[in-house]
Amino acid sequence: MQALNIVVAGAGMGGLTAALALQKAGHRVHVYERVAELAPVGAAISIWSNGVKILNALGLKEQIEAVSGDMRSMSYQDQQGQTLTRFSLEPLYQQVQQPARPIARALLQELLLEAVGREHITLGVSCEQVAQDAKGIDVTLSTGDTVRADLLVAADGTHSRLRTEVAGFDSEREYRGYVNWNGRVPVSADLADAHEWKQFVGEHKRVSLMPMGNDEFYFFFDVPLPKGTANQRNHYRDELRQHFAGWAEPVQTLIERIDPERVARVEIHDVDPLDKLVKGRLVLLGDAAHSMTPDLGQGGCQAMEDAWVLMNCLEQYAGDVPAALAQYEAQRLERVAGIVLRARKRCDTTHGTDPVKTQEWYDELAQESGVNILAGLRQTIEGSPLQ
Ligand code: FAD
Repeated sequence: MQALNIVVAGAGMGGLTAALALQKAGHRVHVYERVAELAPVGAAISIWSNGVKILNALGLKEQIEAVSGDMRSMSYQDQQGQTLTRFSLEPLYQQVQQPARPIARALLQELLLEAVGREHITLGVSCEQVAQDAKGIDVTLSTGDTVRADLLVAADGTHSRLRTEVAGFDSEREYRGYVNWNGRVPVSADLADAHEWKQFVGEHKRVSLMPMGNDEFYFFFDVPLPKGTANQRNHYRDELRQHFAGWAEPVQTLIERIDPERVARVEIHDVDPLDKLVKGRLVLLGDAAHSMTPDLGQGGCQAMEDAWVLMNCLEQYAGDVPAALAQYEAQRLERVAGIVLRARKRCDTTHGTDPVKTQEWYDELAQESGVNILAGLRQTIEGSPLQ
């Protein structure tokens, strides 16, 4: 197999997973990251079984297992704390042969950085412009230097500028109508069972507690709000007290226990599915390719799938980079577009875009044995390129 010179723009979980996969396949990879100091926004991430299988295949199985959460069941309660449904995740894990691994973002990033090797990553330098010809791609860096490569992986995130180069127009990020506060708190029985993903739903809002390893819960609060509400850290607790006044005791306890200094407050956006992921030797990966709402917990997992498919396409079309990338596009376009749209639909149902549908969902939850929810999770996982 011919070893290629590959530049990756962005050292998020997409860029780093891609760098690792491409290194494993024998390519020479260098990552340029715009920021000088990496500090992931957000506390944790649930890596569902499809993402975990890819990290396992890239050699991170033991490390991920050692530091991630052990999530064995799932439940929904209403805002008074009455259980609507509660069920084991074990049947899903047996069907797809891999448990989910919720993990601290900082730990995941650290594992990926170590695996790629810091000497292959330059921080504080961005990829600004590209020019390509039949034989290669020239990447102009923010230092003013130009590096030549066989291909450029644009993993520059939801605000991607390289996306414009591929799409041919400036694709708009659209606000999807809700704000998410997320962070971590120590596990304690008055909040939730240590191995359960517990969610409270009502008034088109949601509160979630998920075991994330290190004896901590990853928590988040979702509240539908107009775009552009003030984001003032010293008001987070008061805001949450107000939005969740009268909700069940564990929700009140959680609000009192959060450390606002370590909470991220995010307005949730997505981008309409693209109809192109590739332009010649430039390929989009991760949020640059498919920016979605977090309602399926799949944004990062899809970036991992992208990395896996890219590696395999390059192997299949050894030496013919444009053909390999065209194959990548063919394999990824429909999969990621489908997930962006399903995440948006889930987002709308959860957050009251149509209040009648949200009420129907609350009613369904009260009748749910777990079978339908597990089937949905399984469908997403089994669409993965790595079974
Ligand atoms: P990013 O992590 O955004 O990384 C892009 C990097 O590129 C950044 O470091 C940036 O500084 C750098 N960069 C930008 N421009 C340039 C440039 N020109 N040159 C060089 N570098 C550049 N996903 C899941 O799978 N499970 C979950 O449970 C989950 N929960 C989520 C919860 C919330 C609240 C949110 C907002 C998202 C969630 N996601 C989840 C989605 C997940 O966080 C993203 O899909 C994932 O972080 C995308 O990784 P990325 O590497 O593509 O982009």
